This record gives sequence, structure tokens and C-alpha cells, in this order.
Amino acid sequence: MSAPIVKTVGLRKSFGPNEVLKGIDLEVTQGEVLCILGPSGSGKSTLLRCINHLEVPNGGYVWVDGQIIGYELRKDVLHELTVKRLRAQQSQLGMVFQHFNLFAHRSVLGNVIEGPMVVRGLSRAEATERAMALLDLVGLAEKAEAWPAELSGGQKQRVAIARALAMEPRVMLFDEPTSALDPELVGEVLEVMRRLAASGTTMIVVTHEIGFAREVADRVVVMIDGEIRETGPAEAVLADPKDPRVRSFLGRVL
Ligand code: ADP
Ligand code: MG
Repeated sequence: MSAPIVKTVGLRKSFGPNEVLKGIDLEVTQGEVLCILGPSGSGKSTLLRCINHLEVPNGGYVWVDGQIIGYELRKDVLHELTVKRLRAQQSQLGMVFQHFNLFAHRSVLGNVIEGPMVVRGLSRAEATERAMALLDLVGLAEKAEAWPAELSGGQKQRVAIARALAMEPRVMLFDEPTSALDPELVGEVLEVMRRLAASGTTMIVVTHEIGFAREVADRVVVMIDGEIRETGPAEAVLADPKDPRVRSFLGRVL
């Protein structure tokens, strides 16, 4: 098996007295699709946010592509790594949020070219050419000049996916990308994600879409109360969970 592209060891995060991640060990290999399931409040979003250091963990480590990430921000260690290096590491992790988080004051195209121009220094022409290819990939090339407010939720989320891909990340992180959508718009977003998975994109997907997990995930992780309680191939975990709390959770959602 190849070296993991994302690896966490003993990852911990507390908010005040509330211990939200209680030591998470996770490995994701190149091209793998990992789905993270679990009840609301179990720490799934916090895990993604700690992986890309939108939240600074209280303990443990995250490696991305063999490099330890964000170590310099930790209060318990001193290190000469700079914030600039953290930003470069973060740009290897594309993030798609539940609520899209598009720039409202930028056109669809503007949303997709912003990062590549500002962070990666691409020319407008080069960024535009790549952005148009990505908008085509998510089926929205004809919306390039539209404003986010003119789009449906499903279209907004597909733009958000194109925007994340534009940074050419090593790994895509999805935090419940379809949870805010009307039911009839879920399918078009899952279809884009299915296509990405099929093209070999490494993906970590927090989702309540059990059907998607069963069909697309190479591996499933079930988090409960800040811990990984079960992990394995989707079919095995979903059909025959060993942990009683996982069994009870899946019993409610399946
Ligand atoms: P999930 O995504 O599985 O629903 P979260 O990671 O969002 O769970 O939240 C896990 C716990 O952490 C919850 O109790 C939540 O209230 C708490 N939490 C998350 N973010 C913060 C924050 N920024 N400040 C304080 N508490 C937080
Ligand atoms: Mg969440």
C-alpha cells in the first residue's frame, strides 16, 4: 500500500471543557474515497477543520503528503515554520462546506479564479482558462458570468467544488456538501462527486448520504463522541457494524 496522503495521529481538540476530538488516528491513501459518518455533534466537522488547520488542534499531529502541518501554531511547541508555509499546506486541501461559502460579490468565474490568481500567482488568462474547464466539469460553464445569488443551491455547491479544485489540491474535503440542499438538488452534486471519485481524486467526505457512501466510498469511518468507533469497507461497516453504538446510529439512519 502506498504512503498515506493524509495522516492524523492522536488528534485532539477541546473547546473549553468540551473534548470534541479524543485522539483520532486516520490514514487516507492516494486516490482513496473515505466517508465519515456519525451523529450530529460527534466531531466530524471539527475533524475536517483540524485536518486543514482552520482549527488548531490541542494535541496530536496531521501530516499532508509526508509533511507535518501547522505545527508552528501549537502553543506546546516552538518551531520556525512560517504561516506562509501553513497556507501552502492548506492549499493542498480543498474544502467544500455545507453552506457553499461563495464570495457573494464575485461572479461564478470570479469565485473560481480568485484563489489561483491571488494565492498561486496565475495570470488572469491562465486562471480563466483552467476555471472554464472546471466549470465545464461541474456542468456550469454557461453560468460563468452569473452571480452566486442567481444560482440554485445545487449550482452554488458545484461552483464551490470547482473553486476548490482550481487550487489543484492533493485531497478534497467535503463537509456535508448536500445537507443544506433541497432534496431535488442533492443528486446533481453527488453526481459531480461521483465523477471526481471515479477520476481518482482523493476525497474525505463527511456525509449523511448512506447510499453515496455505500456506492462510492472505499472505506467508511463512523465517529461517535469524538472517537472513531468503527472503520472498514463500506459494505462491511454498513451491513454488519460490530460496535453497539455504531449499530444503533446506523439503525436510525439506514
Ligand atoms: P459534527 O460535525 O459531527 O456535527 P462538530 O464538529 O460540529 O460535530 O461539533 C462537535 C462538538 O464541538 C459540538 O458539541 C459543538 O458544539 C462543538 N463545537 C464545534 N465547534 C465549536 C466552536 N468553534 N466553539 C465551541 N464549540 C464548538
Ligand atoms: Mg458538522
